[in-house]
Amino acid sequence: MNTNQKGRFISFDRLKTSVSLHQVLERYRLLERFHRTGDDLTGPCPIHHGHNPTQFRVSLKRGCWICFGDCHGGGSVIDFVSRMEGVGIRDAGLLLQDWFHLQPGERRENEFVQITHCSPMREAVDPIRAATNPPLRFSLGPLDGTHAYLRERGLMQETIGAFGVGACAYGTLRGWMAIPIHNLDGRVIAYAGRWPGTPPAGSSKYRLPRGFHKSIELFNQHRVKALASPEPLVVVEGFFGCMWVWQAGYRKVVSLMGSVLSRIQAERIAELAGQGRQVLLLFDGDAAGRKGCADALAWLSGSLAVRAVTLNDAQQPDSLAPERLRQVLGHAAEPEVAA
Ligand SMILES: [Zn+2]
Repeated sequence: MNTNQKGRFISFDRLKTSVSLHQVLERYRLLERFHRTGDDLTGPCPIHHGHNPTQFRVSLKRGCWICFGDCHGGGSVIDFVSRMEGVGIRDAGLLLQDWFHLQPGERRENEFVQITHCSPMREAVDPIRAATNPPLRFSLGPLDGTHAYLRERGLMQETIGAFGVGACAYGTLRGWMAIPIHNLDGRVIAYAGRWPGTPPAGSSKYRLPRGFHKSIELFNQHRVKALASPEPLVVVEGFFGCMWVWQAGYRKVVSLMGSVLSRIQAERIAELAGQGRQVLLLFDGDAAGRKGCADALAWLSGSLAVRAVTLNDAQQPDSLAPERLRQVLGHAAEPEVAA
């Protein structure tokens, strides 16, 4: 890019609403390579020149793409051009403006970082809206935070203390690791149990109280609410992934407690993302995680600047060394802000 380009103004908002992924794929003459089902396209990834016909997915309706192969991620139309051309987000925006003859608008403060706003999330009648998780009237404790299992999972004392996790000696979670789950106001609404190690035959690794509605909560939501940080909100699937990302220095992190994003969770994520309106999805690399990630990306892209980092088959956030984790998060999380 020459120096003239540096001074040019880009409205990412406007770009996203004026240029569709369909138009951009057409410009690259890629459309015929994809299989179309409704508003979704599937095909080999044009960014890393992959051959797997199911690795790359596009939601035309939501204006986002994701690659489950070597690209390890996904995002908006701007991210797509950025990856195709090997340039930063700002330069990708300038290219799009030129290709589609868009006039830059008036300069507004912070517009460079406010990357998306397509349409507000649809309102719909949702039976789950009526569900609530009342604060518990008891406390399981004291929990033993020195249990060897927590060390095996790589958790440091500071993290164990901050999340209040530990081995439980009483009640239905006796012998399990208990993980307190809080509502937005910081009151404990449930304890999740994690069996320390391989669970006995016929028993699952995790246990949640009967009647607890996990799809209307986000693990670690109350701590994120108290942060008021402009950083991207990192969204992971599990409790340990959340604690692991937190421990690596990304305090603005929540977990879905599963791989499926609900409407209420999507709204909560939008609230917690704050003014930066940036979200970074870091789901597990297994089939459920990939599906969950693609769906969450498609859903959240309507109202937020969302990037996804995809992991290899056997990987999950807490299987990444802290250095590697900071690398993948840092790479995907840093928006390019014009000087
Ligand atoms: Zn790819």
